[in-house]
Amino acid sequence: MTRISDRRTFAIISHPDAGKTTLTEKLLVAGGAIHLAGEVKARGANRRARSDWMKIEQQRGISVTSSVMTFEKDGITFNLLDTPGHEDFSEDTYRTLTAVDSAVMVIDAARGIEAQTRKLFEVCRLRSVPIITFVNKVDREGRAPFELLDEIADVLALDVAPMSWPVGMGGTFEGVYDIAHDRAARPEGPSREFHGKIEAAPALPEAARDEIELARAGYAAFDEGAYRHGDLTPVYFGSALKDFGVAELIDALAAYAPGPRSQPAEPAPVSPEGSEVTGFVFKVQANMDPQHRDRIAFMRLCSGTFRRGMKLTPTGHGKPIAVHSPILFFAQNRELADEAFPGDIIGIPNHGTLRVGDTLSEKAAVRFTGLPNFAPEILRRVVLKDPTKTKQLRKALDDMAEEGVTQVFYPEIGANWVIGVVGQLQLDVLLSRLEAEYKVAAGLEMAPFETARWVSADDPADLKAFADLNRAAMARDRDGNPVFMAKTAWEVGYVADRYPKVRFAATRER
Ligand code: GDP
Repeated sequence: MTRISDRRTFAIISHPDAGKTTLTEKLLVAGGAIHLAGEVKARGANRRARSDWMKIEQQRGISVTSSVMTFEKDGITFNLLDTPGHEDFSEDTYRTLTAVDSAVMVIDAARGIEAQTRKLFEVCRLRSVPIITFVNKVDREGRAPFELLDEIADVLALDVAPMSWPVGMGGTFEGVYDIAHDRAARPEGPSREFHGKIEAAPALPEAARDEIELARAGYAAFDEGAYRHGDLTPVYFGSALKDFGVAELIDALAAYAPGPRSQPAEPAPVSPEGSEVTGFVFKVQANMDPQHRDRIAFMRLCSGTFRRGMKLTPTGHGKPIAVHSPILFFAQNRELADEAFPGDIIGIPNHGTLRVGDTLSEKAAVRFTGLPNFAPEILRRVVLKDPTKTKQLRKALDDMAEEGVTQVFYPEIGANWVIGVVGQLQLDVLLSRLEAEYKVAAGLEMAPFETARWVSADDPADLKAFADLNRAAMARDRDGNPVFMAKTAWEVGYVADRYPKVRFAATRER
């Protein structure tokens, strides 16, 4: 095994309350990264880095960070990228998914596929990120396993391969049966948790036997190729709270999930085997403290062996940066590593030089592509309280657009700039940061638009004809790309039907 093939860089996608936090804790415990759930042990510089980090989170008041947790088990290094569990989230939730090689989708057994799971799933599909499904909370009364499997298959248009099966649920819960190995993990004690009791060739209630037979016959068998291609998801049933299915999930990630993949780039895709150190910034975390203009750029390493102190150059702008104090994210009790490998994430402190989407490399001769922007779901007009502050406002909006916190649109007609966000919470963050960091007092007004689409056409004349007829709804994003702002999502469909030669994209690759 090489340093590259033993990396698993993944995220957990779920709807709030499905159990992502509980599962994350259990994964870290199983990986030896934390010893009691919630207690993070670290030494020396590592501890300092972590606590600084938490301080930043506290200052922000909300967990808008996508933090990174690294743990090792059986010779495999797992990098778990946490996406905020908030119902409200910004583009950086999505962008985190550009930095992973696979994902675990957690579903509440009583609720099935929920709105946010679905959105995040679509992002994974866009990038062909393979998905392992974990149906959580089978210790409680939930929906029938068949119903859940059919829903995943129908709603997400995926083949499903059940890998395990709950033996009863809720009051009748008697553990989880491992289909391939013909064994069952059994609950013990008054809490009915899993404490390691595994029964080989277990006696199961007849109803469970029948279900498992039907499931074997009725669903696809696991196929690694189909999984890696994003056509099939293996489904594990379990209970994060009671520790069922957690070890199986780690084993599945180790056995099936891909290591670092080739990354789309210009002039050519970058293979993780390449010797030059390259990576891209998928997130920038700014400090809310106005006294400190420091930021941390999260870089995913795509090729080469990174060593502390190394000089990396952002492609297209700027001078080489010597990375003397990279933050690494080992949550376990060990010394801070001085090296990092493809698939690893490094936090690089900087003063605003590094931006989301930046490529960093030794020679500055490549550029990673494919970090998408997403159509905003909330649009607001920005109203400046002091008209002499136009320049500062523009700078602030451009900065925040660079961080991926918000998007900014400059309408073709009219002076009021429009900002777009994917979640309501970002509006509050925006206003407070304008005030605190840029000393700009501004308000937000309803805009007569609800969503936006990037427009393009093969023939520029078609695009121009469309734009001319819809000038009041046209704007430019901060890179100058034409955007159509729609009154309703319905209008997008209506207009798209009338202008078949114009493409209306809900995402834009940078
Ligand atoms: P998140 O919002 O997805 O991070 O969800 P949490 O991990 O915070 O869990 C939400 C709630 O569900 C909490 O009250 C958990 O204790 C509970 N929960 C999580 N996993 C399980 C499970 O496997 N079984 C049961 N019964 N409850 C669970």
